[in-house]
Amino acid sequence: MTALSKFFRQTLGLELLTANCHEYCHVWNPNCHGAVLDACKDGFPFCLKTYTTFYLISSLIRKKDPRKIDYKRLVNDVLRSSVFLTMNMFWYVFLICRMRQLLGFGTWPTVSFVNGFLSSFLAIIIEKKQRRPMLALYLTNLASETAYTQLVSRGYLKFISNGQSILFAAGLFGFLYLYKQNKLDKELSSILNLTHQLEGKDEILPLKRMPRFLQMFYQAIRKHESGKHDLCQHKYSCLSNVAESTSKNFAIGLTISVCLASIRSIRQPTSLLKNLLSWSNLKMPAFFASMPLLYHSSKCIMHRTLNKDSALITATSGFISGASMLFYPSTSIALYIFWKCVEIYYFKLVEKGVIPSIKHGDILLYTLSTGYVLGNAFIEPQNLRKGYYQFLCGLTGDRVNLLNRRLFDKFGFHSNVLFENYIPKLDHKVVTINPALYLPIQPPK
Ligand SMILES: [Zn+2]
Ligand SMILES: [Zn+2]
Repeated sequence: MTALSKFFRQTLGLELLTANCHEYCHVWNPNCHGAVLDACKDGFPFCLKTYTTFYLISSLIRKKDPRKIDYKRLVNDVLRSSVFLTMNMFWYVFLICRMRQLLGFGTWPTVSFVNGFLSSFLAIIIEKKQRRPMLALYLTNLASETAYTQLVSRGYLKFISNGQSILFAAGLFGFLYLYKQNKLDKELSSILNLTHQLEGKDEILPLKRMPRFLQMFYQAIRKHESGKHDLCQHKYSCLSNVAESTSKNFAIGLTISVCLASIRSIRQPTSLLKNLLSWSNLKMPAFFASMPLLYHSSKCIMHRTLNKDSALITATSGFISGASMLFYPSTSIALYIFWKCVEIYYFKLVEKGVIPSIKHGDILLYTLSTGYVLGNAFIEPQNLRKGYYQFLCGLTGDRVNLLNRRLFDKFGFHSNVLFENYIPKLDHKVVTINPALYLPIQPPK
């Protein structure tokens, strides 16, 4: 046993992997450089497709007119982001091989986290500065979800059913507290205005364009005798404000739901009717509609009972509206809102000089969270968000499924649990790797 393997095994207590990197990592190609280039050949076009869609949609939302889009800038952004993401994958696989060559063996940190952190750092410095905070936030969201799933699966934490609603509500509390004080940025304020119909000063529903019976109905409740409180800023009665904002959001939610059901049916047009009539299509409209319903009704009740208005009252109504997530539980949305809120308050506190600013904090956060997520994709894929694992499959041309995780089992992470029936094949050909090479090997004494 060499001094190095003795140090890793006896001092650090790590199990050693004596198979070579072709046997446990790049089973699709025995050549280390060839293997990583194979992955890049599939990864780069995937990145181009993903980022073209992403930048095109976000430019359309921002400019609202395809003729106003700066296409030269768009192509630059797509290329830069595609290189960044492909390089993240390149360095990840490349470093597994390099570390195997340097040490003469592999251990779980060198096939997951060390290469994960290093590759993420080397990649994020390529990406545009303005994009880094968004990426860091997205990956922090994913890393926190992965860590939570891991703690639950190990029995250290209990699974809280509907726990997403609490995080979502906490995030909304923070956002609306700032909104009431005019301290929330324009973009977030307009999103909140859409989800909660905050600006009730003008007409919420365009009655003139609606059928006669609906016009009569809404006109009657606009002038309802219960009226509105002096502190209420909406135009008509409290009842109409609640009813109109709820109806408007229900319609928006239903439109999104129908569009998504239609997109799902593209591959199987015969299932369109079944998809459209499914009860689950009502989850999104119920989620969208209950946000203003809970927000405005609780706010108007507080105006009437407490006879005062404050940022705390607005924020409390926001918190109550978080219960809407019971209709549409989404860990991704809840965690995004929560971490975005933490980010905003962090920068507010930095601005006030209460806490110090961390230089290159976005790079640090991206490096740590992406390294953590990618490491888990290798050794604990069962605890990763399914959608993200699918994304990694697309990025690597399905190669993330080809890893020889049987060999990782001795690390104690149950890495192979999702791949019990999979036996690695050399270069995708019929010949399988010699079982003596992929079955767990006893470390040298
Ligand atoms: Zn290799
Ligand atoms: Zn009111």
